[in-house]
Amino acid sequence: MSESSQIVGGGPKKVLYTLATINRIGVGKAAKALTARNTCKACAYGMGGQQGGMTNELGEFPSVCNKSVQAQSTDIQPPIPEIVFQHTIDDLSELSARELEQLGRLGTPLCKEPKSDRFVPISWDEALDRAARRLAQVNPQRTFFYSSGRSSNEAGFLFQLLARAYGTNNVNNCSYYCHQATSEGLATTIGKGTATVELEDLTGADLIFVIGANPSSNHPRFIHMLKNCRERGGQVIVINPAKEPGLVKFAVPKSPMSMLKGGSEIASDYLQPRIGSDIALFKGLARAVIEQGTADRDFIDRHSAGFDAFCADLARLGWDEITAACGIERVEIERVAAAYGRSRNAIFAWGMGMTHHVHGVANVEAIANLALLRGMIGKRHAGLLPLRGHSNVQGIGTIGVKPVLARDVLKRMEEAFGITFPEERGLDTMACMQRAAAGGIDAAVIMGGNLCAATPDTRFSTQAMERIGFKLYLTTTLNLGHVNGLGEGEVIILPVTARDEEWEPTTQESMFNFVRLSDGGIVRINNVRPESWILGQLGRRILPYSPIDFTAFSRHARLREAIAAVVPGMEDLADIEVAKKEFHIRNRVMHAPEFSTPDGKAHFVVTPVPQAKPGRLMLATVRSEGQFNSIIYEETDSYRGKAGRDAIFLNAEDMAERGIVDGQRVKLTSDAGEMMGYAKLYDLPRGSVLAYYPEANVLVGTEVDPRSKTPAFKSVPVIVTA
Ligand code: SF4
Repeated sequence: MSESSQIVGGGPKKVLYTLATINRIGVGKAAKALTARNTCKACAYGMGGQQGGMTNELGEFPSVCNKSVQAQSTDIQPPIPEIVFQHTIDDLSELSARELEQLGRLGTPLCKEPKSDRFVPISWDEALDRAARRLAQVNPQRTFFYSSGRSSNEAGFLFQLLARAYGTNNVNNCSYYCHQATSEGLATTIGKGTATVELEDLTGADLIFVIGANPSSNHPRFIHMLKNCRERGGQVIVINPAKEPGLVKFAVPKSPMSMLKGGSEIASDYLQPRIGSDIALFKGLARAVIEQGTADRDFIDRHSAGFDAFCADLARLGWDEITAACGIERVEIERVAAAYGRSRNAIFAWGMGMTHHVHGVANVEAIANLALLRGMIGKRHAGLLPLRGHSNVQGIGTIGVKPVLARDVLKRMEEAFGITFPEERGLDTMACMQRAAAGGIDAAVIMGGNLCAATPDTRFSTQAMERIGFKLYLTTTLNLGHVNGLGEGEVIILPVTARDEEWEPTTQESMFNFVRLSDGGIVRINNVRPESWILGQLGRRILPYSPIDFTAFSRHARLREAIAAVVPGMEDLADIEVAKKEFHIRNRVMHAPEFSTPDGKAHFVVTPVPQAKPGRLMLATVRSEGQFNSIIYEETDSYRGKAGRDAIFLNAEDMAERGIVDGQRVKLTSDAGEMMGYAKLYDLPRGSVLAYYPEANVLVGTEVDPRSKTPAFKSVPVIVTA
C-alpha cells in the first residue's frame, strides 16, 4: 500500500487543527468573527451572509471549514509592531511567506522613498497626498490598476470607475491568472461565462464530474456535496492526473457516520490522464457516448448548433490516437462514458487544472461539448460549475474590473456619470507585466493579492515590478509581493479593513451566482480604512474637477445604486441593504435551455488535440493543503505525505528510469528557469510532475493562452535530473 493510499481527507486531525487555530486566535474573537453576518473570506463556494456567518444559502448550519478559520486567523492579529520597520526591506524579504503574514496586521500607512532601503510609517493624509501627486504626474496610459478577488463589489466598482475616469482601461483582476479561460470558453459555447448551477442543484445530481481540481484542499465544503451524492446512489467521477487522497476518501467532520467509519468514499471512478491531455480524453468520452447511443438528439436538434462539424472532427480521431495522447485505456473511457450515459442529471465541476494551459479555453469548450451532448445544460440539477478561487473573484469581474467593458455597460456608465471614458482596449494582467518589464509602466495601483509572486517566471516578474516607478498597494497584511520587486522607485502601502471590519455593508458574488450581503462593523485595529474610502479620497485628490463627487460616491449605498443601474442582472443590488434579500443574479444561463449566444443556441466547438513536447516531462504547479492562493498557512502538506514546499512529485517509473530515489535532491529545468527540490514518489501518470505554486513559478514561462491570456501554470515542459 503506498503512503498516499493510507491518507484520508478531513477527519479528527482537521477538526483538532481547526480548534487549535480557534484557540490561538481566541475563542471569543473567533466566535464573534465566525457568527457575524459576513461572507466567508476564503473560497468562492460561498458561505455566510445574512443567514448567519456559518450558514449557506440552503440554510445548512454549520457550513464552515478549516480554510474559513485560517482566513480569520490572519485578520484577527494585532498590528505589526513599529519596531519591525526599523529593519531594511532586504531583512523583511528574508522571511518566508508565512512568517511575513504572521508579523500581524498592517496597522499604519507605509512609504518607501525612492532609492530608500526601508519603509517608514506615515500619516493617512501624507500617504494619500503623495499617492495622488504621483498618479497625477504620470500619463494614465502608462499605468495599470490590478485587483484581487478579495475586494467587495462596491470597492471594485469604484476602483474601475476611478481608473477609467483617470484615463486608463488597464484595469484587470486575478482571474487572468485563474479562471479567465472559463469565461471565454463558456462565452463561445453557451454565451455566458459563469456557472449554470446553483448550490441547490448539487443536491439533485446523480453524477458529478470533478475535473482538474482538488476540492478536498481548496473547496472543502464541496466534498460534503460529493459525499451526499454517493450516499444517495449517485456517482462521482474524478478526472485528475494526480491521485489526491482527499478525493478518494474523506472523513467529513459534519457527518458523525463518516467520521466514525474512518472516512467516506468520494470518487466512484478516478481517471488519471497525462497532464495537458484532457481534450483527447473528453473527445474519447464524447465518441463513446455517441457510439453507445446515449447522446440526447432531441436537445441537440432543438437547442444547439455545430453538432455536425463536431462529429466530423471526432470521426477523424482514431481510438489509438485518443488513448496514446491521454494514456487512458479505451475500456476505461467507455466505462465512464456508460456511467455518464446512464445519468439523468450530471454536473461538470472543474478547477484550474483545466484553465492553466495555453489551450485552457479549448479545455473548457471540450467540457461544455460533453455536457451539451447529453442535454445537461439548461435544466435543474445538471450543468456546468467552474470551481472559482477567491470569495469575490466572480463579482469583481461582473462589476467591471476588467480591461474591456461590454459596449452597453460602458454607454450606461458614460450616461450615468456624464464622462467620456477611454475606448481603447485595456491590457490584461500579463500584458501589464510585460509592458512594465519593457519600461512602459510608470505607476501601478494594486488592491489586494500578491501580483509579484502570482506572476509566472519569478525573475521576469520581479524585474517587471522593479521597473514601475511608483506602486500603491492596498492590503490587510504584508506578503512577499510587498518586499520584493520594489526597485529604486517610490512605494506606498495602505492598510485596509478586512471584510467584517468594513464601515458599511458590502456585497460579494459566489461561484453559484449568489450575491451575499456582509454587515461589516467589527473594530479590531484603529488605523485601517475601507478600500472604498481610500479610493474616494484618491479620486477627490487626483480628479478635483471631475463631475463625479468621489467622496460622496465612496458611500456603499450610492455605489450599489450605480452598479444596479449600470450592470445587467444586478438590479436587486440597489436595495439589498434595506431588504436584506440576497439573490441569484438574473441574467445567467441556468435552468432553461435558453442561451445568450446571438442565435440563442448552445454551440458545439471543435477543439484540436494539443501536441506534447517530445523528450520532456510535463509539470503542473499545485496548491497544498493549508494554502490559499499564494498564502501559506502550513509549511507541510498533510494530504501529500507531509511534503515540504520544495517537494517534486514524480511517477515511480520516471524516477526509476532516471535512477532517482524517494527523498533525493533533484533539479527541475524548464525554458524559463530551474529549481532544486527533493523527489517524492506520487501516484501520477508517466511523464507528469507536480511542484508547489508559487515557488515553482520560477519554471513557468510567460506564454499565455492566446484567447484567455492565462499563463500555462499547469503545463510546463521540464527536464528532471538527479
Ligand atoms: S468551502 Fe469555501 S466558502 Fe465554504 S467555508 Fe470553506 S472556504 Fe468558506
